[in-house]
Amino acid sequence: MVFPITTPLSIQLGIAGAGTMGRGIALAALLEGFPVLLYDVQAEILKQASENILFYLQRKNKDQFHNRLQLTSRLDDLHTCQIVIEAAPENLELKQDLFIRLDQICPPPAILATNTSSLSITAIASVTENPQRVLGMHFFNPPAVLPLVEVVNHPSTEAAVMQTVVELARKIGKTPVVVQDQPGFIVNRVARPFYGEAYRLLGEGAATIEQIDTLARLGGGFRMGPFELMDLIGIDINYTAMLSMYEQTWGEPRYRPHRLQRQKIEQNQLGRKTGQGFYRYSGSEKGFIPPAVPRRRQGEGEILIAPGSWSPGLSALLQENGYRVLDQPGKTATQPGFAIFPAGKSENMLDLVIEWDRLLPPEIPILVQSCDTNLSTVENRLDHPQRLAGFDGLFFKQAQAVSLVRSSLMDKQVEAQVTQFISRLGKLPVWIGDTPGLVLPRLVSMLTNEAAFAVLEGAADPETIDLAMRLGVNYPQGPLSWAVSLGLERVLAILDHLFAEYHEERYRAAPNLRNWVRSRKPPDFITPSG
Ligand code: NAD
Repeated sequence: MVFPITTPLSIQLGIAGAGTMGRGIALAALLEGFPVLLYDVQAEILKQASENILFYLQRKNKDQFHNRLQLTSRLDDLHTCQIVIEAAPENLELKQDLFIRLDQICPPPAILATNTSSLSITAIASVTENPQRVLGMHFFNPPAVLPLVEVVNHPSTEAAVMQTVVELARKIGKTPVVVQDQPGFIVNRVARPFYGEAYRLLGEGAATIEQIDTLARLGGGFRMGPFELMDLIGIDINYTAMLSMYEQTWGEPRYRPHRLQRQKIEQNQLGRKTGQGFYRYSGSEKGFIPPAVPRRRQGEGEILIAPGSWSPGLSALLQENGYRVLDQPGKTATQPGFAIFPAGKSENMLDLVIEWDRLLPPEIPILVQSCDTNLSTVENRLDHPQRLAGFDGLFFKQAQAVSLVRSSLMDKQVEAQVTQFISRLGKLPVWIGDTPGLVLPRLVSMLTNEAAFAVLEGAADPETIDLAMRLGVNYPQGPLSWAVSLGLERVLAILDHLFAEYHEERYRAAPNLRNWVRSRKPPDFITPSG
């Protein structure tokens, strides 16, 4: 470490910028007893920040720490600080100018950190005489509540400087993760497909806003669906982050913004802050409220389940619910209610479905897991395509809401039967279009792929990435360990299916992900969760 942080009183912390983030970081530090010198160009903002901080300190019964807060509108006063965290507006020139001045005012070994979310730390550090003491310290909003801090190294950040800032983050009660200076760091980068793929699904008419949010919440266990989350963040802010990633990577197709994003901005429907985004927020309109999940009711009769590995636990679930599960047609005198195919493309799913379609009476609905294949491929080969529907086998067992796929020739009667069957299992049926990767498998596979690329490109190690996604955006599981528990080979099959259907570079699988699958064992750095 550059200097030990033995007790909070052993260092003086400077914060430049007293807006949303600056005052939040000051509050987080004061709550742990650190003295803070808060600087802003506007005296009025400083006064508001101080009142705001006092309010929150009082709520935590820590108002005695308010006298450790000093305010200044003179940058020179920061010369006494050992660590300065800059939280000024997101503008490269403004930040570079501030760092040139801070570099002159605060003599080494003082450390200079920036809270930028999207600018290059290297570009900020490079204007100073002492770039080795400059790094990123990226807090999440609200800083006093959210536990994650990304500590961002640029190529010349000294290891001791990074260690000191890691220690500071811990001392103010945060969990630091170390990441290299790459666009989006970890969280803003790995989360991109959650929004980007949701826009694609919506833009192609595969599912509605409400369906996508329902499946994310009740199917995947995300705290919020992508559209309600964008309404909270601000659709304009999210668009700017997307565009910045796209530009900084010279047009990486995974980060390409969507026309619907810009259209929302043109309509000034920016989310909660304007009273309307994807949902309305005024009076009795409170945004997205997920639909109720049906109550589980006992079923009866027989269900045929073909061989296949994509829906582990499916037989047990049906048996628990009162069904008799058979593994071959014609074993009993009675006819089964449904035939279910939990096989993937590589498990000869298509041949099996064709065979059973010939054996089974045409009134028995056939449900085919269709995460890695389009339903049209199957429909095309059946004698009785009107009985065919697809389902998301990958998330089926745990999900409270399940994607079901309509085939183009499906009978109304089949839709009603499947709806009733899924509802009896205590799951909400969500009928979507025949789209590659469906909703959740597509979102989670693309999150995994982004995390794998981040590992490949040396942004951070897998465990760090998983931790950052759980703490930074409250994901139910880190994407890499989630993929291991779903089956890395299945995640790869979904990505390859997306690529085969779109022929877009956006859906190319990360080569290290492919290597992990080929090596036939989960990478030992990831512990499967769930
Ligand atoms: P903000 O607009 O709320 O606050 C910026 C403050 O900086 C204002 O009080 C302004 O008066 C002050 N300021 C202007 N020029 C200055 C200068 N030359 N020197 C010092 N202060 C100056 O912005 P914010 O949301 O707090 O964002 C600050 C930084 O934190 C940005 O880099 C942003 O990308 C980053 N960040 C924001 C969030 C977020 O959710 N708001 C989250 C993480 C990181």
